[in-house]
Amino acid sequence: MPDVQHDFAGQSISAARRYLQSTLAAAVLEDPHREARLLIEYATGLSPEQLLRDDDRSLSPSEALLIAEAVRRRLAYEPLSRIKGQRDFYGRTFVITAAVLDPRPETETLIDLVLQWVDATGGRQRPLSICDIGTGSGCILITLLAELPNASGLATDISSDALDIARINVERNGVAARASFTQARTLDGIAGPFDILVSNPPYIPSAEIADLAPGVREYDPRLALDGGPDGLAIFRDIAAWAGSVVPAGLIALEVGAGQADTVAGILTNSVENRAGLPWTEVDLGGHTRTVAMLTQR
Ligand code: GLN
Repeated sequence: MPDVQHDFAGQSISAARRYLQSTLAAAVLEDPHREARLLIEYATGLSPEQLLRDDDRSLSPSEALLIAEAVRRRLAYEPLSRIKGQRDFYGRTFVITAAVLDPRPETETLIDLVLQWVDATGGRQRPLSICDIGTGSGCILITLLAELPNASGLATDISSDALDIARINVERNGVAARASFTQARTLDGIAGPFDILVSNPPYIPSAEIADLAPGVREYDPRLALDGGPDGLAIFRDIAAWAGSVVPAGLIALEVGAGQADTVAGILTNSVENRAGLPWTEVDLGGHTRTVAMLTQR
């Protein structure tokens, strides 16, 4: 382990940056240049432009402590978002803690799919009702409520600690009046009817969790990752109830690598009031990431 007892106090920003770059590079973290810059931005609160301009200024004792603590955590592969306690998703900021999954950019594909459907079926002013299963930080429901000014929604999570974070995030993002919460694993006890059902459920097969990158395995909550023996347990559960909870509307689910066809099959076979066949959407990395299906009365 590289030296993490380093004292940054009184060092110039550029000296601290050089030290961080070589320390992060020695720990084989990807892109040590960028990481060093982000750590200093975090500790100083400076913008990237200010950072370049103030290259010579010395770090204060409190900035030095923040950097030392942040780099120590980063060297243990803790994601920077967790060190900061927040993550940007679809242009908004979400508080995160150890109780919730770190929102991922690929989940924005699910948001785009829902918004495309809304745009094509009457527009964003409609008073839609939305249910988000396994809300975690609340990023999916909150983003949709923010994008759809007359929508309201219910978020569930099995974890009460996660629901506490989602409640903080609805406040911070100004949609608290249109959101409610229920502690539940999936749709048991949830009646609806809703126009839209969304979920990014835990979908990693239990035996594969040990092989995940340490930044995921050690920091995302197991409850948010573990999808049972084949990773599909929650999809089966959701599909069993989805048709009655969404009598006429949209079901849109995020899926893991290689799961799209199987999840589409589960929806096709379980949802009696389906309208047509499921379709899929690809994320920015080219992976099939979302499976969606319509229902009708
Ligand atoms: N809905 C949250 C997200 O997409 C949490 C998902 C989860 O915990 N599996 O980030």
